[in-house]
Amino acid sequence: MDFYVTVLGSSSATLANHRGLTSHVVNYGGNYLMIDCGEGTQLQMRRFHVPMQKINHIFITHLHGDHYYGLIGLLSTYHLYQREAPLHIYAHEPLQEIIDIQLRASETELCYPLYFHTIPYQHRGVLLDRENFYVHTFPLLHSLPTNGFVIREKTRPRKISKEAIEGVDIPNEAFDYLKQGKDYSTEDGRILRSNELTTSPLPSRSYAFCSDTGYTESFLDDICDVTLLYHEATFMKDDVPSGKLAMYHATAEQAATIARKAKAKQLLLGHFSGRYESLEPLKEEATRVFSKTNLVEDGRRYLIHAYKVL
Ligand SMILES: [Zn+2]
Ligand SMILES: [Zn+2]
Repeated sequence: MDFYVTVLGSSSATLANHRGLTSHVVNYGGNYLMIDCGEGTQLQMRRFHVPMQKINHIFITHLHGDHYYGLIGLLSTYHLYQREAPLHIYAHEPLQEIIDIQLRASETELCYPLYFHTIPYQHRGVLLDRENFYVHTFPLLHSLPTNGFVIREKTRPRKISKEAIEGVDIPNEAFDYLKQGKDYSTEDGRILRSNELTTSPLPSRSYAFCSDTGYTESFLDDICDVTLLYHEATFMKDDVPSGKLAMYHATAEQAATIARKAKAKQLLLGHFSGRYESLEPLKEEATRVFSKTNLVEDGRRYLIHAYKVL
């Protein structure tokens, strides 16, 4: 099952050359989920060949403009393209009114169903539950109500053991039973045992999105053991400005500390301040605390691998 994220923008609110504003598109087995939709997201989707029409769920972390100013443009484009599929938006309450006002002002009645799901203040819980995965949300530490998200795969099927099935006559319909851990009785009276013919499933994969946030350990349980953690790293530790910005944004070192404490398998840093031309020093700062760190790049796709922890 495919599971990867395409990063459409890696900049914080201060504009930077060659970096778009925050938006990630996660593909889990053909389910396309967007997280945040900063200004310019539509253009980035076209540029990086993300299938715009396949997105059915959009999650907005908070209502600072760099995380949602691209949304009304996207909703309008769907209308112009005569989209029919329903679209679900998950966000804090004021966004519904903002969308309504903009649509009313342009006398637009959308040609597709738009469902708005309010994320209550400080909410923690499951927002979307599907057969193979679910999306859980949790509060972050920011100057506005802000939520992070984690997309977790449910238990994966057991793997058929090539060695074990060699020479065994197995009807096609038995494979699904065996992969689900169930034994299968054949018409000629044999019992095919799942635990003899399959091996344990790979660990479930997960992707967590934590931006914008200051340093807080309040969501470590929510993202525990995550396969790939995206955490903001707006500044380096020696560049943190005084006042609110310091409280509500994280440094590269702090992001790495969260990754280590949450037992994440890999860390992606993003939401970089426009002051940084080169981002390598941020990576170096984080790597000293958590070695499996990378910097996000606009347009790149990051596979969410299953890991066996040794
Ligand atoms: Zn931001
Ligand atoms: Zn913000």
